[in-house]
Amino acid sequence: MMQTINQLYRGFYFRIMNCYWCNTELIVGGDIDIDESMPTYPEYSVETNLSCPKCFAEVEVLKKRNAYD
Ligand SMILES: [Zn+2]
Repeated sequence: MMQTINQLYRGFYFRIMNCYWCNTELIVGGDIDIDESMPTYPEYSVETNLSCPKCFAEVEVLKKRNAYD
């Protein structure tokens, strides 16, 4: 039962990524909408931060502004 709930939850909400260094499943810290007040990344619309619970690597994902909008 726990497994079913877990799979549903993951399937609908998270896009699973594994750590580049140790292949552990990364924890999604959150999505940040990038707008004009954040001129650092004008080409991108969403910034997602992920972290590894095992080796503590940090991963930053930037979504191109025109992709999937
Ligand atoms: Zn790791």
